[in-house]
Amino acid sequence: MKRKIKILLITTGVIITPVLLSPLPRFKAPLSTVVEANDGSLLGARIADDGQWRFPPSDSVPEKFEKALLAFEDNYFYFHPGINPVSLIRAMISNIKAGKVVSGGSTLTMQSARLSRGNRARTYPEKIIEMFSALKLELFRSKKEILEMYASNAPFGGNTVGLEAASWRYSGIPAYNLSWAEAAAFAVLPNAPSLVFPGKNQEVLKRRRDELLRKMFARHYFDSVTLTLALDEPLPGEPKTLPSKASHLTDLFFKKNKGSRIITTIDPVVQEKVTEIVNAHQKILANNQIHNLACIIEKVETGEVIAYVGNSSFNDTAGNGGDVDIIQSLRSTGSILKPVLYAGMQLSGDILPNTLIPDIPTRFPGFSPKNFDQTWSGAVTASNALSQSLNIPSVRMLQKYNPEKFLTLLKAAGFTTFNKTAGYYGLSLILGGGETSLWELCGVYASLSRILNRFNKEQKYSMSDFHPPVLIRNENKVLSDTGKTEMPLSAASVWLTYEALQRVNRPESETGWQYFSSSQNCAWKTGTSFGFRDAWAVGTTPEYVIAVWAGNADGEGRPGLTGVTAAAPVLFNVLNFLGSEKWFVRPSEEMTTIKICTSSGYRAGPDCPETEEIWACVSGLKSEACPYHHVIHLNKAKTMRVTSACAAPSDIINEPWFVLPPAMEYFYKQKHPEYKTVPPPAPGCTDDKSIPVMEYIYPSPGVKIFIPRDQTGTLTRVIPEIAHRVPSKKIFWHLDNNFITTTRFIHQIDLLATPGTHLLTAVDEDGNSIRCSFSIISSIN
Ligand SMILES: [Zn+2]
Repeated sequence: MKRKIKILLITTGVIITPVLLSPLPRFKAPLSTVVEANDGSLLGARIADDGQWRFPPSDSVPEKFEKALLAFEDNYFYFHPGINPVSLIRAMISNIKAGKVVSGGSTLTMQSARLSRGNRARTYPEKIIEMFSALKLELFRSKKEILEMYASNAPFGGNTVGLEAASWRYSGIPAYNLSWAEAAAFAVLPNAPSLVFPGKNQEVLKRRRDELLRKMFARHYFDSVTLTLALDEPLPGEPKTLPSKASHLTDLFFKKNKGSRIITTIDPVVQEKVTEIVNAHQKILANNQIHNLACIIEKVETGEVIAYVGNSSFNDTAGNGGDVDIIQSLRSTGSILKPVLYAGMQLSGDILPNTLIPDIPTRFPGFSPKNFDQTWSGAVTASNALSQSLNIPSVRMLQKYNPEKFLTLLKAAGFTTFNKTAGYYGLSLILGGGETSLWELCGVYASLSRILNRFNKEQKYSMSDFHPPVLIRNENKVLSDTGKTEMPLSAASVWLTYEALQRVNRPESETGWQYFSSSQNCAWKTGTSFGFRDAWAVGTTPEYVIAVWAGNADGEGRPGLTGVTAAAPVLFNVLNFLGSEKWFVRPSEEMTTIKICTSSGYRAGPDCPETEEIWACVSGLKSEACPYHHVIHLNKAKTMRVTSACAAPSDIINEPWFVLPPAMEYFYKQKHPEYKTVPPPAPGCTDDKSIPVMEYIYPSPGVKIFIPRDQTGTLTRVIPEIAHRVPSKKIFWHLDNNFITTTRFIHQIDLLATPGTHLLTAVDEDGNSIRCSFSIISSIN
């Protein structure tokens, strides 16, 4: 008895030891990078490092292919332990009869083991290793896993490896869509790929496929009609080019996740449509030597990117930077950050939506912004300054808010690219002094829309709503936990900003704006960088954010390249396709109504004659009261100002008057004929001086003026200018206490001053005077 046990143990050991010692089949060959849409369809792929189309293993084998494969290769696959003694003996007999190797008797498990060992010669020792490896494989892996291993690594002729790659290369469809005929053809192929290379040797392949189809019919896998139709189906043809529906996105994953299968959030229908829109518009832009155009669309609720067109592919833009993924490229922001500043200032209570902001010629140290149309309005409401994208009011707003605070706000909202100091950017940050990408821009707008939507739905906030766009399906959406708990912006501030952006106003340029006078519900903003290098357009609805960039990847500017003309048409075409019936809900719970002065938009003061109620952020209750309404004392005819020193109290009328500072007034009244200049003081009445009569438009006191020499080497001139409430009054100009000249109506002089500090004094005919000290710096050469 003991002896029998001993023999049994030894026998078992003799079999088990080599099984355990034999290698467990593993596949280490490099893989292709495969990028799929949200429905699993192929967006694009990149070949593996060894030049093979070898897709990463999929998680299942299509049923038709499995049935065809088992019928053709291994009927007893689910019943044998990795080797099938019956087939081995049958193969041995056939080989002996034929005098050569005509059959291997290999199971699919043995073939998988063989595939993992590369293309080795078919020797007996090799065959024995395969058998032991197959046994080990069966011990450690399920039947399904072994099938997947085979399907992913079987050769399909040429440089095509695996069923998935073969299916796309030869049939142009995913493997799970294969017909019975295609499944049969692909089951036959790996057995002798050189013999039956699709596109060649059609007869051999057809004969083998048809035999297999009949065998499957005999097993009742399908009915006779299906068989007839299957036998008539053409064979898989020559290898096809793989789909390339999002080439820049495929490249992005090729860099980041090489050799992986990525299931993205891309909606293939939207991707195709947006590509079509981008290419159609590119065709128009190409006439103006504008070669690159990109568009990204993000779903607000989930943050998922549903379209990613990194560049146009119209007419092969490869030679013109078409290969650059613009969505990830850093470009000058132009005006595209202005909405964030507006929202920040609503939240801080620095301004109310219609607060008047000065719009007059302004120079800041080393920086003199200009409006796009080179004109000034004197004063504009903050919301109009935003929707019309006026530069000077925006710079003044940033000055009031503080550049440092703004930089902090941009970072908290999700921008990561502004990595210099506030001092480095200065006030130009609001006009494109910094760089960002379409990717970040889209992510920030979607985050803002998301907090507004959530607040309206749940009356609360979640920091997790601030995150970059999501590209991988089912990816954890909170990509960066900042650890912060304070929301950078509130639902109310975002809503007020979107209300201002929804208005169809004249944005930046007259040309083409009428084109967008649609009733689309969309908060949108365009931007154009210095030198017409970058044209931006970004728009949001409660459901989507669409961001568009147009320009040249190499940075070449083109006249006429503006956000409105080059980028916005794509935004609106996409919007028409997606639809935008809904609009954001006002988050009334965290807002308040505030009484404002109708003329100035400031919180109403005691002297403001006309007021109205508006919705604003609660902090707006603490905002500055109207500084422009003053009660003045007039004669009965209301033609002159008087004081109690020169008129009887019964002859004095007290009336509130809207008085802008002289420089604002000078430009404001040109565009507002209803504006009435405050009446002059009556002769003999001493002016109370509380209302200045004149003001320097240029230079501003204390400014340092850099004067270049012109081409002849002569210093160019400075043109000081004064706004006087009564332009007909004479002004006497003095430089450093020396009289220079007199002006009337147009108070502008031509000055050639030497480098150094100067004092400019202006005295009007009534004896009012203003002084301005300034410095001139000239270049050496
Ligand atoms: Zn007022």
